[in-house]
Amino acid sequence: MVGVNQNDEEYPMKAADFNMQQALQFQPQHGLLKLGDSRVIVMGIEAIGSLYQELFNVGDIIAAQVVMRRFGEANGRERARMVKDVFKPENQMEWLAFGPTIHAWEGVGLPKLAVFEHDAAAKKFRLLVEFKDSYLAEQYTRVMGPATEPVCWQLAGYIAGYCSEVFGMDLHCRETKCVAKGDPHCEFDTRPRSEWL
Ligand SMILES: [Zn+2]
Repeated sequence: MVGVNQNDEEYPMKAADFNMQQALQFQPQHGLLKLGDSRVIVMGIEAIGSLYQELFNVGDIIAAQVVMRRFGEANGRERARMVKDVFKPENQMEWLAFGPTIHAWEGVGLPKLAVFEHDAAAKKFRLLVEFKDSYLAEQYTRVMGPATEPVCWQLAGYIAGYCSEVFGMDLHCRETKCVAKGDPHCEFDTRPRSEWL
């Protein structure tokens, strides 16, 4: 069904036509900012650097990774839900395409799809994303210096959550390259969770 929203944008919207400048609804008189039907905030990324530092100060790195990953996963699932409900993409590939499109507009970095394989009947899935200018790698190195392992845990969680929601599968994402450990870009590999075990 084709519809028109209050900004005269047509549904279903294509990811390529998404424009954050039009999609954001500024309501300073109420202290609110909305993207679709989700409330969002504008926050300086130094706060995330401080969060990394505090998580490391607590001393349990595994717990820090789990917290950041789950935080990202919840964020990715919610974003996928909002995209489906508000922009009504016409198929799964368009729904998927909103993920990297919104990431780029949000300023978290520039994702590029390198590999995509999906066979719903065979429960096969693989998504490889090359990611430039990750804000997490930038902030990690600012407060912690160079890393020995990938550190963009929240982004890995987000990609897994977003894709799991779109494809209705239990997907897990691992970061396989990271700028924080000296790679030219970050790289995220998403597969069915059972394949990683
Ligand atoms: Zn990274």
